[in-house]
Amino acid sequence: MESRLKTANTAQPGVVVNPCKACAPLGASLAMKGVRGSMCILHGSQGCATYIRRFFIGHFREPVDIASSSFDESTAVFGGRENLIKGIKNIIEKYKPEVIGIATSCLAETIGEDVGMYMKELEMLAEAENLTFIHTDTAAYKGTHVNGFMKMTSAIAKLAEPSSAETGNSIQSENVKRLKINMIPWMVSPADIRGLKRLLDDIKIESVFLPDYSLTMDGGAWTDYEAIPQGGTSINDIRTMGAADHSIEFGEISSKFSSPAAVIEDKCGVDYSILPLPIGLKNTDLFLNRLVELGKQHGKPLELPDDLREQRLRLLDAYADSHKYFSGLKAGVYGEADFVLAMASFLCELGIEPAICMTGENISRESIELISSRIRHYGFNDAVVLADTDFDALDDAVETYRPEILIGNSRGYKTARKYDLPLVRAGFPIHDRFGGQRLLHLGYEGALRMTDEIANTIIAVRQAESPVGYMSM
Ligand code: SF4
Repeated sequence: MESRLKTANTAQPGVVVNPCKACAPLGASLAMKGVRGSMCILHGSQGCATYIRRFFIGHFREPVDIASSSFDESTAVFGGRENLIKGIKNIIEKYKPEVIGIATSCLAETIGEDVGMYMKELEMLAEAENLTFIHTDTAAYKGTHVNGFMKMTSAIAKLAEPSSAETGNSIQSENVKRLKINMIPWMVSPADIRGLKRLLDDIKIESVFLPDYSLTMDGGAWTDYEAIPQGGTSINDIRTMGAADHSIEFGEISSKFSSPAAVIEDKCGVDYSILPLPIGLKNTDLFLNRLVELGKQHGKPLELPDDLREQRLRLLDAYADSHKYFSGLKAGVYGEADFVLAMASFLCELGIEPAICMTGENISRESIELISSRIRHYGFNDAVVLADTDFDALDDAVETYRPEILIGNSRGYKTARKYDLPLVRAGFPIHDRFGGQRLLHLGYEGALRMTDEIANTIIAVRQAESPVGYMSM
């Protein structure tokens, strides 16, 4: 049977109410947080930087500084070059960064600010201050937070240098025998980045993460104020990405918009693989099998540790044990397209029908079909896939398709409350629960954690509904 496909908010054509996305400069700012010693400046109005800082603080619960070139009425008319240069000089004085990322907001893009041209002026400043500037255009009306994240990550990836004796960018350590991977993990949680790093370390793979905000956005308590939090991938490490054996990039849909791995291949000739987010058993298997294949291809064979095999078996056991709670269950899943794609496939593994799959991203018809076909593969033929849409459309879809549980970020809470549905929080942002930055989604352990959480949520609902008050469910 054909899956039902919709690509727009049919409730109110042309009107977006509570969109299922955030804006592109937000994603670009997060990517910059994954570079060591960096500060990000948004070229545009001050409110954009304030909104993004507030958004991050609610999810990551960390102090977040983002500068702004602070447009006013006259800048909006005559251009913001002077404000930008002044803002950058202030950042240098107050933060002493090694790297400055410049992203544009809607206003700067609308009046046609040519930041690329300003970059030429900034070259002298960069040399004098030993600074690296990175820039990308991020008009929010041309893309979502994921697009902004991928665009800025691609801009950072341009710093990778080809391996050569002249640049000294060849691997001359004992690690030369280890597979060297560029890991481009997508917009995952700090806990996910830490989990991936542990996993690659355990398999004895040398890796450079782009970006890595696992510490900058989820670090420990400070004894003294730090203008720029510790952590992030250093510019020197980013330069060595051109000497890696291979790049692995998560995000089959977002990579079509902008692919940092493709940038590194273009510049340095490093082959790459685009994989789904390793959410669930099958996607994690795919990732690990790819690593093993790469080890063989490059004459650096890998051995998966016993611990990883045990994790996989535990997950399978949890799948078997939980099937009685999940059989016949219908879910609504929403968020970024790649998150929805991977999460829907994980739900299918559990035996839960992802009856509604919704994203605010304006993805292609092929990407919609990709989500739909992956669900059909598990025998669920009636899933509805909504793209470029908002939470009003989720309300409509819930009324029509009657899921029993929602899975996604905090933005779906109003729908969950309106229809009295349990909401399992996952992805970004988590603003109405504690610890969103520490939610593990990836790998066998991430899947096991989510299996437990979804099962317990369903058990709690059935227990509350039962007139008997069973204590064993
Ligand atoms: S004006 Fe544009 S860039 Fe600024 S916060 Fe709004 S959507 Fe984002």
